[in-house]
Amino acid sequence: MGQIRSSYLGICMRTNVAIIGGGPSGLLLSQLLHKSGIDSVVLERKTRDYVLGRIRAGVLEQGLVSLLEEAGCADRLHAEGFLHDGTLISYGDTSFRLDFAENTGTSVVVYGQTELTRDLYDAREKADGKILYNVEDVAIHDLENDAPCVSFVHDGVQGKLDCDFIAGCDGFHGVSRKTMPESVRKEYEKVYPFGWLGILSETPPVNDELIYATSDRGFALCSMRNETLSRYYIQCEMSDDPGNWSDEAFWDELKRRIPETFAEQLVTGPSIEKSIAPLRSFVTEPMRWGRLFLCGDAAHIVPPTGAKGLNTAASDVHYLYRGLTEYYATGSEKGIDDYSEKALSRVWKAERFSWWFSSLMHRFPDQSEFDHKMQIAELEFLNSNRAAQKSMAENYVGLPY
Ligand SMILES: Cc1cc2nc3c(=O)[nH]c(=O)nc-3n(C[C@H](O)[C@H](O)[C@H](O)COP(=O)(O)OP(=O)(O)OC[C@H]3O[C@@H](n4cnc5c(N)ncnc54)[C@H](O)[C@@H]3O)c2cc1C
Repeated sequence: MGQIRSSYLGICMRTNVAIIGGGPSGLLLSQLLHKSGIDSVVLERKTRDYVLGRIRAGVLEQGLVSLLEEAGCADRLHAEGFLHDGTLISYGDTSFRLDFAENTGTSVVVYGQTELTRDLYDAREKADGKILYNVEDVAIHDLENDAPCVSFVHDGVQGKLDCDFIAGCDGFHGVSRKTMPESVRKEYEKVYPFGWLGILSETPPVNDELIYATSDRGFALCSMRNETLSRYYIQCEMSDDPGNWSDEAFWDELKRRIPETFAEQLVTGPSIEKSIAPLRSFVTEPMRWGRLFLCGDAAHIVPPTGAKGLNTAASDVHYLYRGLTEYYATGSEKGIDDYSEKALSRVWKAERFSWWFSSLMHRFPDQSEFDHKMQIAELEFLNSNRAAQKSMAENYVGLPY
């Protein structure tokens, strides 16, 4: 645990790894480091309840499940999560099932990001882990020498956290990435010309597995959190507003985009959350600068189509945690020196898959008839070709770390 020396001048703390951001990346890293006897302090800008209120990812790769097991945080996931051995893909009047288990020998687990984050918070609290909520004005200093530190304000009191390393787990809008000098940072970005309108409803899912659907009206996804909680999305215009969509209008539009048999079975009800998410591909290189390591959404974003955001954050945590463990156990800097290259190699493959699947399943405003024919040809190839199915299944369940 970080030692705190508090005085009227401010808070002074010391730890091995200062972690900025208490989302899934920061919490998982903190818990895994704790299991290896390495101290960390998490600085989170919001409250615990605010973080848990964010409705986001829900499909976990086996790699993330294994990391949660290693962190001692997988009991509830195993009890309440749902193994999915495949998914349904539909285009126009045609649909087919992509079998993950048959093609790869593995599955994915449906378990909400909110629940996973709650489990990690509980584990950190049980282990007396140090998390400061509601921190403001976080700034990173002295990255290029052996004694970096983070300054912040907590409850109106100025704080300073001395450390060996800093993990920037503060998401796309955090401070960590922007602390890296522009001269060393290269950013790659693609913004898609549409968004996803999503609702959460206390209704049973329309199918046991996810349904990815594309039609002349655009993309739709039928997803779920559990047997009584469903998550549905439809492609919408980027300039759209959730307020423009009554629940009834949403359900009507969803029904027009999914296979008729499912549209007829769909149980509708009031939405308990409704929001629009933009779709973006983004990567920053490198993911390390001096003693700072970027992790998760702080370094990269994918459109949610391939369910890769949270899972790619987890693979970063894996590489960083292994590198830091090696450093503290042996003094070797090899793992941390290799971090950026190893993490980016996997990140770019997840970016490719998410871009490919997004390009295949959405209607683009400037799309020509030729472009549309290409999408249909590709879907028919995927429907009928075993090698194409295997390739997609391998990417969907997650490439090895
Ligand atoms: C609307 C939406 C829907 C999504 N849906 C899916 C999905 O269906 N499937 C999927 O795989 N992925 C999805 N994602 C992506 C997935 O949720 C993210 O990849 C995942 O949350 C990344 O975790 P993270 O910990 O790296 O970042 P975050 O979850 O963003 O956590 C970063 C944390 O840092 C904190 N922070 C920020 N700035 C500071 C600061 N200056 N000081 C201190 N703390 C700070 C934030 O409050 C936050 O708690 C979605 C993302 C969004 C935004």
